Amino acid sequence: MLPAFHVNLHGSHERRPCKFFIYDMGDNTKGAYAPDQRGYYGRFGGAYIPELLRPCVEELRRNYEQITNSPDFESEFKQLLKDYVGRPTPLFLAERFSEHYGVKVYLKREDLCHTGAHKVNNTIGQILLAERLGKKRIIAETGAGQHGVATATVCALKGIQCIVYMGEKDIERQAPNVKRMKMLGAEVRPAMSGSRTLKDATNEAIRDWINNPADTHYIIGSVVGPHPYPDMVARFQSVISKEMKAQLKEQTGKENPDAIIACVGGGSNAAGAFYHYLDDLDTRLIAVEAAGLGVDSGETAATSVIGSEGIIHGSRTLLMQNAEGQIEEPYSISAGLDYPGIGPLHAHLIASGRAEAVSITDEEAIKAAFFLSRQEGIIPALETAHAFAAMDHIKYGSDDTIVINLSGRGDKDLGTYIDYFDKYVGK
Ligand SMILES: *Cc1c(COP(=O)(O)O)cnc(C)c1O
Repeated sequence: MLPAFHVNLHGSHERRPCKFFIYDMGDNTKGAYAPDQRGYYGRFGGAYIPELLRPCVEELRRNYEQITNSPDFESEFKQLLKDYVGRPTPLFLAERFSEHYGVKVYLKREDLCHTGAHKVNNTIGQILLAERLGKKRIIAETGAGQHGVATATVCALKGIQCIVYMGEKDIERQAPNVKRMKMLGAEVRPAMSGSRTLKDATNEAIRDWINNPADTHYIIGSVVGPHPYPDMVARFQSVISKEMKAQLKEQTGKENPDAIIACVGGGSNAAGAFYHYLDDLDTRLIAVEAAGLGVDSGETAATSVIGSEGIIHGSRTLLMQNAEGQIEEPYSISAGLDYPGIGPLHAHLIASGRAEAVSITDEEAIKAAFFLSRQEGIIPALETAHAFAAMDHIKYGSDDTIVINLSGRGDKDLGTYIDYFDKYVGK
């Protein structure tokens, strides 16, 4: 039965939905863009999983809202975000950058989070949830290694066993992050099958979870996967827009900016930056995807442009697939954006017109990274640089206020940036 699983998880052949029953959400504060009880955002989302995985996902679904809404969880989550992650992250008015574009641009500084990006907001939330579910063992999968590091970090913090599955090819390509995970005490297990990359690591992690349902929690790193993961991860990341509202109010007198720009791999930093603005239609939401070498080049990760509906990673969403429903290999210069799908929330936001999608090429992102570095003294992650490059593609008025979610710092990407020094820095 396991071989079918690959297709089930990553292809769109498997049409057997595991639809969950109606249950009381006990929360009447949900807006128009919240998922329904079965985890659907419009026609996207749900939980398309093999029978064997059902008990694991069902346990999580039954418990996540109650646990994360409990005072005990909330107070520990808040405290760790403050004292361990370093929240609230600043909202910074980028004056020289603003002057260049003729519009006020604020930067939400997720690059200043412990570990250098927003991913830790989610892994902190999930480790606290895992503890309260009585789990003794954490598994995760990682492509570039960033989510693996964020997971290994919180497992060390809590003294919980951590196993990170990673494609053998990615282990070779991402040696520094592999070393970080090991230094943090995690075991890195190579996935040797298929293309030996992220999707193979995901299959190994799922296989592990099926075999260890009682004591193991699977930490997914973005707003992807079967319900309740997209909703759960979006809620953990929503601290970003919660802080943004208060900070904008304080600095500008107005909670709502005219636009928020964020890059989208799976979509977790964007979901966090958009979350508390979803129902505020006076704020435009701009989701920036990686065009790679160009949306029509065959070497791209611009899912919303060239993708179509199907099932990936346990949910119905937009994904890059061929006529037979096989997943197309995505490409982007940035490892965090080369994912062949997008989270179901984003598929819905884009399909419904609530969010605008912009795609940015490798070249444009690199140029934006060098520009921001010189203009503001901030070297952004390659992923984040895509969000900055979107400034050249969107329309805005000179009185507008724009917030760019600065999802991560660029130290990890220095090796890539160095290849472009001849062009942007000189010898
Ligand atoms: C992983 C990563 C991303 C992409 O992931 P999302 O879930 O789309 O946020 C973006 N920026 C940085 C810095 C990352 O590390």
